[in-house]
Amino acid sequence: MHTSSKVGIIGGGVSGLYFAWLCHENKIPFTLLESTPRLGGALETSCNKNGVIELGAHTLYNTYEECLRWIEVLGLKICNKSSLPYRLKFGNEYQSFFKSFHWMEALGNMGAWWQWRRLKNKPLSIQEKFSVLFGKRNCQELIFPFFNALLNQDAEAFPADWVFKKRKKNKRYPRKFTLEGGLSTLVETVESKIKESVYLNSTPKNIAEKDGVYFLQTHAQSFAFSHLVLATPLDQTASYLKTILPHLSPYLEGFCSVQTLSVAVDSVRSPRFPVMSGAIAKDAPFRSFITNDTQKNSEDMRSCVFHFKNPTEPFPLETIQKALFLTEQKDIFVRQKKINTMPKITVENKKQIEILMEEIQKNATLFLCGNAYGGCGIEDCLMRSKKEFERFSRSLIKP
Ligand SMILES: Cc1cc2nc3c(=O)[nH]c(=O)nc-3n(C[C@H](O)[C@H](O)[C@H](O)COP(=O)(O)OP(=O)(O)OC[C@H]3O[C@@H](n4cnc5c(N)ncnc54)[C@H](O)[C@@H]3O)c2cc1C
Repeated sequence: MHTSSKVGIIGGGVSGLYFAWLCHENKIPFTLLESTPRLGGALETSCNKNGVIELGAHTLYNTYEECLRWIEVLGLKICNKSSLPYRLKFGNEYQSFFKSFHWMEALGNMGAWWQWRRLKNKPLSIQEKFSVLFGKRNCQELIFPFFNALLNQDAEAFPADWVFKKRKKNKRYPRKFTLEGGLSTLVETVESKIKESVYLNSTPKNIAEKDGVYFLQTHAQSFAFSHLVLATPLDQTASYLKTILPHLSPYLEGFCSVQTLSVAVDSVRSPRFPVMSGAIAKDAPFRSFITNDTQKNSEDMRSCVFHFKNPTEPFPLETIQKALFLTEQKDIFVRQKKINTMPKITVENKKQIEILMEEIQKNATLFLCGNAYGGCGIEDCLMRSKKEFERFSRSLIKP
């Protein structure tokens, strides 16, 4: 059977969901195909009697203008996050960033600060930008582990300008916050409004374009769309582009997505384990963990999500035991696991993406959304979807 609607959206993470929402708001028929049994992608909350914890994205900021608009339209309740510190894990110690910072090294680099102004608008990597300022030791011990944790990859070559963006604060909201019930509330609320147009467990095996129509085949169904939105991870987008627009696929050649294994655990409280938002590790099998200490939680249990570097190896429970200062492994209860995906971007291959973003403008029926087109934060994803939706809307008006 051929199911036909105007626009087909592939990928039900926050990027695909926002495009779908904009279609819904503007009464444009659409079909959303998601390969897994659930929507949300990197937005997934785990709830149990020990409290709420996020397996992926966990924090929204008052600079997320598009996200705030969405939250307001959906009528969602926000929840302040108490400002507990993040710590650095050195061996078996947790230290504050402030105390771990090599101040003398940074002060010795003062002469380089004039370069900082000069470097401000250059397309530099995280390594190039920050080693000038803070010095080698600070970078190796603090700055790089911080970015590695933020971006879920070895991030030295990641473009610095894709990470920190100057955005206006909306002072009506706390600086950082989450949603009541966790970020999945956003996904579930949107899903309840668009569910007739959503197909879960649906992965297009191949996509072909003929006479301006996109033909897709999943294990169960065939679809035909006049417009197509790819809101899939970068490597998946690259493989679809190979058949749809082969002349553009070289721009995504060699790109890959990096995967992280995120493991949520409940554990018996250990008095030695300090209260904190989370920790960043340099020499451990995980890059970071996030606690639910910033939220209302259980009095005798604590919950954490560990983000492991290697998703293909079984995660070492012993590492978690040591990190939480527990004497016995039986005091850890594994709640839930999840594989998260992020794009691997470098200053070099970013240029290819920028060319692709320019080239795709010439096509009036294909749209690229996701976290690989200018930034990985939730707001970056929404802004990209909004921009592509505006291009899509213009293409509907044109004869
Ligand atoms: C651990 C972690 C913590 C983060 N923390 C924050 C944070 O605190 N704040 C913040 O702003 N950002 C954070 N981010 C970044 C942000 O959450 C992500 O960049 C964003 O959610 C990505 O959304 P997306 O829709 O582009 O991609 P994804 O969330 O990866 O969604 C892609 C979707 O496409 C589906 N899919 C894949 N292939 C196919 C296919 N062939 N057919 C159909 N469907 C397919 C996938 O199953 C998935 O549902 C974090 C990211 C991670 C991984």
